[in-house]
Amino acid sequence: VASSKEANFSYIPKGYTVPDDVDYFHFTSNNTIYGTEMRFDPDVNVPLVADMSSDIFSRPIDVSKYNVIYAGAQKNLAPAGVTIVIVKEEALGHVDRAIPTMLDYRTHIKKGSMFNTPPCLPIYSALQTLKYYKEMGGIKEMEKRDLEKAAILYDAIDSSKIFVGTAAHEDRSIMNVCFVMKEEYKDLESEFIEFASSQGMVGIKGHRSVGGFRASIYNAMPKLSVEALVATMKEFEKKH
Ligand SMILES: *Cc1c(COP(=O)(O)O)cnc(C)c1O
Repeated sequence: VASSKEANFSYIPKGYTVPDDVDYFHFTSNNTIYGTEMRFDPDVNVPLVADMSSDIFSRPIDVSKYNVIYAGAQKNLAPAGVTIVIVKEEALGHVDRAIPTMLDYRTHIKKGSMFNTPPCLPIYSALQTLKYYKEMGGIKEMEKRDLEKAAILYDAIDSSKIFVGTAAHEDRSIMNVCFVMKEEYKDLESEFIEFASSQGMVGIKGHRSVGGFRASIYNAMPKLSVEALVATMKEFEKKH
């Protein structure tokens, strides 16, 4: 229904209309590649479906608004191998074409999520993470920490003479912070990657389709690490 393709996906489209005759409205709440995020539960007149793989547990969600929420565990919950699905019972059973048994949520509900041999370690790990979130004060507290971490990094980028953020301010992700070198410093990009890695910071390179830099600061990333990255950026800036 809407796209920001013309601006290299740098913002979340607004003011679009969802047609009444569609079966559902699907969105992916956080764009890990371009660093934009929908940190709200949209109001639409059709069933709402969301892929929250990369930002689930980073803010309280109004679950009642959704027919389906699904999320791979591998960002904010557990090692890869398990997927969370929250589905309204009334959303089930409306497909009038044949769907593979494995892809029918009713199969998994009927079998208590044990239709196939479950990956026990990721599931156990998910339990431990959820317990940890609860002990820390719940998802409200995780959101507070995530906002704080993102603010430290975005403030450093916004006040930098050589780095610049790529996503529209009001839509930027608190999970994936995307930035590049300003035009006149573009040729320093690979040097910064090297400098960062000499300081022990790995995985700072942007997604291969966009280049630049990307700091993924999921829930498991401590504030200290974000501060260390900021210190590295400032040191690099001073050098140049
Ligand atoms: C992280 C992510 C992926 C990629 O998952 P892989 O298991 O690394 O392939 C795909 N979609 C969404 C929405 C994601 O957040």
